[in-house]
Amino acid sequence: MKKKNSEPAAGETGLFGAVPAPAPSQKDGLLAFSYSKMSLYEECPLKYKFKYIDKIKEEPKFYFAFGSAIHAALEFLYSVRNPPFPTVEELCEAFRKEWNQKSYLEKGYRTQQKSDDDYQKGLLMLKAYYQHNRVRLAPPFLVEYSTDVAVDGLLVRIIADKIEHLGGGKLLVTDYKTGKDVKRQPSQLYMYQKIVELDPRLKEKLAEIYDVRVSSVRIGEMLYYHVPTNKEYHFERADDREIGAFWERVLGVADSIRGLKFDPVPGELQCKWCDYKSLCPHFFGGHPHPPADLAPAVEKIETLVDRYGRLKERMDELQAQLLAVAADIGRAAKDGGAYAGASYSLEVKKAQKWEFRDREAVIKVLNQFDLYQRALSLTLTGISGVLDSKDISEDARKKLLEQAVKKTAVDIKITRKPA
Ligand code: SF4
Repeated sequence: MKKKNSEPAAGETGLFGAVPAPAPSQKDGLLAFSYSKMSLYEECPLKYKFKYIDKIKEEPKFYFAFGSAIHAALEFLYSVRNPPFPTVEELCEAFRKEWNQKSYLEKGYRTQQKSDDDYQKGLLMLKAYYQHNRVRLAPPFLVEYSTDVAVDGLLVRIIADKIEHLGGGKLLVTDYKTGKDVKRQPSQLYMYQKIVELDPRLKEKLAEIYDVRVSSVRIGEMLYYHVPTNKEYHFERADDREIGAFWERVLGVADSIRGLKFDPVPGELQCKWCDYKSLCPHFFGGHPHPPADLAPAVEKIETLVDRYGRLKERMDELQAQLLAVAADIGRAAKDGGAYAGASYSLEVKKAQKWEFRDREAVIKVLNQFDLYQRALSLTLTGISGVLDSKDISEDARKKLLEQAVKKTAVDIKITRKPA
């Protein structure tokens, strides 16, 4: 299994035949696209251009080399069609072979010692994985499944570490993570779901491997498997609304790439690890530009305008998603209380509150009954206080109620669980 961050090499052989050569940026008018390309574009469009348009190679990164070697060993383990599975010694040998393909410098380590330390760490990790999973080892449907699917003017590539068939065309996709922790990236799973369910080859493969014929394939479940801790993070199939919002985001990024919008978006994190600093107009020989008064003001404000626009669009989209999820939590939590997911816990408090539709009509009623002063500055709390007080006339209450709707307010307090 190759780590997701690396695209497979041309002609590379996967478990189930040759992995297709990387698609050119444009093929038959389709824009070559993937989740990692989108992430990089969102991080910094100029960085995307240097890497994917100008094809300037980045420095090797030791964490990618480490992840690749672990993935290669797991690919070896699951390549079995008919058990027995390899022994733990054979698994470690597969890791050793992959590790020794490159020198420590080619892998991106600064010293031989650091490389050797990670090699030992990898061996321990694989032994623990084997021990943890040995009783449930079973040949998966597909391993290291790479596919390119044409949709909406894009040719989207996904590489799934492991796919299992749950029956009736339902699939479980597993993504192995080897970093320090598992970043919750539902959008990466949305990409798997969208493309897996559109991919016609999967139906053919089900017929070919299991002699199962289905009209369509569907995601049953998705899973991040954190190899260093043997922890599993399960995700249900996303609903159409989530996929729809995600796909809008994908098409927005694709439009910007087609429109050749490659302004740099500097930021502490992305620039810190960026290999293109010496080429970047934001930097002078590896250092940020001098103060703004020395920089061309017009260019700077244009860059900021675009950056602001992009961030605002993303924020609006995220805000809409956040509100929708909060509403779902409010419905699911019934009477409120404390709940926990894999990484977060939250507390939900529910209370009834009034909402008023027509501000002018409310002012009229308050004035008619001489209640305006009591509502103070006409805040929602002020008017609600008047409505709920015992000493207003029934007529005034009735007229105010005509303008009011009682809603359930959901207050959510979320905390991240300790790692
Ligand atoms: S140095 Fe920063 S702004 Fe320049 S290309 Fe890299 S990430 Fe983008």
